[in-house]
Amino acid sequence: MLDTSGLKTFLEQKRTIFLTTHLRPDGDAIGSILALSFFLKSKGHHVTAVIPSEYPYYFEWFPCIKEILNYQNNKEFVLQQLKKSEIVFAVDFNQLKRNGELGQIISETTIPKVLIDHHTLPDAGFDFTFSDTKASATAELIFEIIRQLEPDLLNDQDIATCLYSGIVTDCGMFKYPSTTSHTHAIASRLLESGIDIGKINSLLFDNFKEKRLRYWGHCFSEKLKIHDDLHISILTVSKKELTGNHLKTSDLEGLAGFPLILDNIYLSALFIEREKYVKVSFRSKFDFPTNQLARIYFNGGGHLNASGGEIYLPLEESVTYFMEKINEFEVYLRTKK
Ligand code: 5GP
Ligand code: MN
Repeated sequence: MLDTSGLKTFLEQKRTIFLTTHLRPDGDAIGSILALSFFLKSKGHHVTAVIPSEYPYYFEWFPCIKEILNYQNNKEFVLQQLKKSEIVFAVDFNQLKRNGELGQIISETTIPKVLIDHHTLPDAGFDFTFSDTKASATAELIFEIIRQLEPDLLNDQDIATCLYSGIVTDCGMFKYPSTTSHTHAIASRLLESGIDIGKINSLLFDNFKEKRLRYWGHCFSEKLKIHDDLHISILTVSKKELTGNHLKTSDLEGLAGFPLILDNIYLSALFIEREKYVKVSFRSKFDFPTNQLARIYFNGGGHLNASGGEIYLPLEESVTYFMEKINEFEVYLRTKK
């Protein structure tokens, strides 16, 4: 169980607190910083919640999401707030690199830094770490902090909505192996608050624009490469295609894992061409360790079944490089499951 006694003592005085999360924030990142921010504000603390890059347009409905500052659009103000803050909570990421330019600035400050996260191998550069790599989502950890320090707040509709959203997105609607009986117990407690999960799930998962669905269709019918012998699928997305189809990176969220719907695919790889590098996303089922692949060869990391990284090669060469490296992981792939 998390030991929140030090945090409890720290929060006995009114504090100025800076919250942040990872680049291209997902449902867990947004749900976690919003819930933590509601909790801290309810206790009278001054909170600045900052995302290092914009959130997807389909998260607009999250309660009070407009109160989160995007560092990219408010650099000066955000840095002023950071300077005034007594503590930084880094939420849902394990390396300050994942917080981009802002993370670099934070790492150079002397302000105490607290990590609240569920990824493996958290950076050593934090003064205090709340880490539980068995948690399906960081929102599970925020739930636990609130449960220990202010349990009545778990009945607050905004807090329950944000925590439920963080969990249900990061555990793939309770489908991924990261889902535990504890995950379900937390979800059950959140449902007791009276939140409308039918509505929340639709807002979270049934929110495609037509152009996004049609592009995904094009990817699957025209572009997806399948290596039957290795049980892998590969998809590449070029910069030109994204701009040509008026799509944003957030329109690709979920695309990496979709080919796992095929019964014979155990590892799905997505390569997205960015300005200076290629962003890779790996999703797997069964025992394929995507985080090892991402960490060793793609300067990244993540969880067993979902990881990401980057590679400084042209798009097609990235795929060739991947095909070379994947041979080392054949043992997980060749045998039919
Ligand atoms: P995605 O493929 O959606 O970007 O990320 C999937 C998972 O891998 C997430 O849990 C994310 O935290 C992790 N991940 C993605 N990119 C990186 C990276 O560059 N470094 C590390 N350490 N983890 C990453
Ligand atoms: Mn997460």
